[in-house]
Amino acid sequence: MKWQLSLLLSGSMLSLSLGFGLGLPCASAQAQTPGAPDRALASQLNQLLRQGFDRPQQSLQALGTLPAAQKPSADTQRTLRLTEGRLQVMAGNVDAAQMIADALAVDPGAAQTVLLLRAEIADRLGQSELAANFATQTLDGLALDCPREGLAEAPGRAALMDAVQRQRCDFRSAWSALRILGRTQFKEGALPLAQASAQYELALAEAGRDAVLTALSLGQLAVLAQSQGQAEQADSYLAQAQKTIRGDDLGLAIVKNYMGAVGGLRGDSVSQLKALEEGLKLAKQADAPRLIAHLQSNMADAYLRLKQPALALDAANQALPVVLGFKDLRIERSLRQNISLALIQLGYFDKARQEIQRTNDLRGNSADQGVRADELKELGEAWAAAGQAKEAIALFHAERKLSAEVTASNREASLQQLKVKYDSDRKQGDLALLQRERTLVDQQLANRGLAQQASVAVAVLLVLTLLFVVLMVRKVRSARQRLQANELLLRAQSERDPLTDLANRRHLLAVMAMQPKAEFTGALLMIDIDHFKHVNDQHGHGVGDQVICEVARRISHAVRAEDLVVRWGGEEFLVFAPDVDHETLHRLAKRILMEVGALPVQAQNGPLRVTVSIGFAHFPLPPAMLDLHWEQAVNWADMALYTAKSRGRNQAMGIATVSAGDAEALMQIEADFDAACSSERVSLHQVLGPALI
Ligand code: GH3
Ligand code: MG
Ligand code: MG
Repeated sequence: MKWQLSLLLSGSMLSLSLGFGLGLPCASAQAQTPGAPDRALASQLNQLLRQGFDRPQQSLQALGTLPAAQKPSADTQRTLRLTEGRLQVMAGNVDAAQMIADALAVDPGAAQTVLLLRAEIADRLGQSELAANFATQTLDGLALDCPREGLAEAPGRAALMDAVQRQRCDFRSAWSALRILGRTQFKEGALPLAQASAQYELALAEAGRDAVLTALSLGQLAVLAQSQGQAEQADSYLAQAQKTIRGDDLGLAIVKNYMGAVGGLRGDSVSQLKALEEGLKLAKQADAPRLIAHLQSNMADAYLRLKQPALALDAANQALPVVLGFKDLRIERSLRQNISLALIQLGYFDKARQEIQRTNDLRGNSADQGVRADELKELGEAWAAAGQAKEAIALFHAERKLSAEVTASNREASLQQLKVKYDSDRKQGDLALLQRERTLVDQQLANRGLAQQASVAVAVLLVLTLLFVVLMVRKVRSARQRLQANELLLRAQSERDPLTDLANRRHLLAVMAMQPKAEFTGALLMIDIDHFKHVNDQHGHGVGDQVICEVARRISHAVRAEDLVVRWGGEEFLVFAPDVDHETLHRLAKRILMEVGALPVQAQNGPLRVTVSIGFAHFPLPPAMLDLHWEQAVNWADMALYTAKSRGRNQAMGIATVSAGDAEALMQIEADFDAACSSERVSLHQVLGPALI
């Protein structure tokens, strides 16, 4: 004797929801979604579906005679077919509905909308899991258009309202899908989920301003609240439902059915029965045969609880033909169960057995073992109460066996749920991991970018530095080269005589310093202009300079290329002739004498006769070939020059031999050169200059 909640939560019973994309009369001020069927037709179809719950055949007939539009759009055609399919479900013509669903499924544009039809078919066939699956898919398809977030707050509700009013959200389809899903959730004991579904249902119905759907959602919420022991909450929902549906007998009859359900859940069979009787009265007024049958079925349940089997049997028997007409197997089964129970209570055991047998045959259609187990338990208890121990024990065992199976399958389902949850958690984990990885990769990319920028900067810096260094090196090198050149120039200049452009004494010093040996080898000729003082005195210093320059030029002209001419002092010159033999040396002295003295120098104020005297020698001095330092050698040449001067000028005196065995002897000769010459310790060789005319 169990309240047939399945009845109350039946998708088909409550499928007052209508087609896909059907408009609302109250939404006329709003923009209509393109492609939605026109409002007048939508309203008609909605009406047909509403009537179809109680009179599906009539609605199907009316659907066939609807004034056909000139050229119905693809959407309108789909909606018409779908409406037909849903009416067929209501009529219990599941095969016909299935054919329509299959035909629609071929149309890619209807693939989404056909899911609800499939859900209703599965629901009608008692395939609750499949039905819930299709319902979920339907909801998934509608999720974007029917925003579900934040419905507890005003903005969330406003967003849904807007979507519904603009016909973007097909709220009736969403509502119907939720009803089917919620029923499965309730049956599986997932009350919070069922409650969430019902809340969304309510929000959709309110957004669509559909009083009947709103009342149904509130009734559902009331049953759910009572199932969780929240009696006050349940009453509040029921009061709201009644208020919403005021003036609508049919709607109110449905609400009364819910009130009966809530009473039954409370174990208050009296108020349960009272509500159902009120509902029955209203349903009769509204001429709703199917609802009447449902109410009677529930009344039979209440009568059984109240131990009034005759009334129960009467109510069930009244309902049965109507239910059979709708081919509603689920309700039929519950009716037959109640009939069996009533017959047992009444003591009509044989009839009861027949009825049970018929119910069993019927059960072949049902896969719902939980309901079956409950029924077996009820029957077993009834048999026991009637003193029929044999049947009671048999049923007890059957029920235990089935319950064990149900428990096992429940455990399996729980495990399945856990697995789904685990999979979802793992997926979340994977997603989080993926997110972290992505963040990491982003970070790495950013770092790489920074690193690249840094390396580019470093490279640029390096190139710039390199350029700078190269530039600096070049600059330094050129500066050094300039410096070296300047140095060379300076050195050259410092070793040059500015007046005659001959090498100066410093240059000879440098040349001598570069000689490999400290001992001097080679020949030296010391040259001095004769009576130069007179030139200065008679012609002036400028002419004196001119004469010095000309004499320098002439000496340079007289010597060989390898000889070095140095301006030694004011009007004195020194020639260093390396690698020269005696004869060549004499010729060299002669050439200088002749070159300078043969022709007058063309000075500023006329030609001037200029001669030179020369003292020369070849080192080391023969015959002892004693080594001398170059400065000492210069002194020897100078001493020879002195002799040339003293012997009349315009001549050269060369030292031929020196009688000195060692350095000391040489120094003695140096100390008195004249005497040495006179005593012939030094033999000289005279070279005469040009004859003066
Ligand atoms: P001697 O025949 O004995 O050599 O007689 P001298 O006059 O040539 O010799 P002395 O040494 O007495 O005179 C040299 C003079 O040369 C003295 C000096 O004024 C002059 N003199 C030295 N250097 C220069 C110079 O660069 N330019 C000019 N114009 N005169 C100079
Ligand atoms: Mg002199
Ligand atoms: Mg002189």
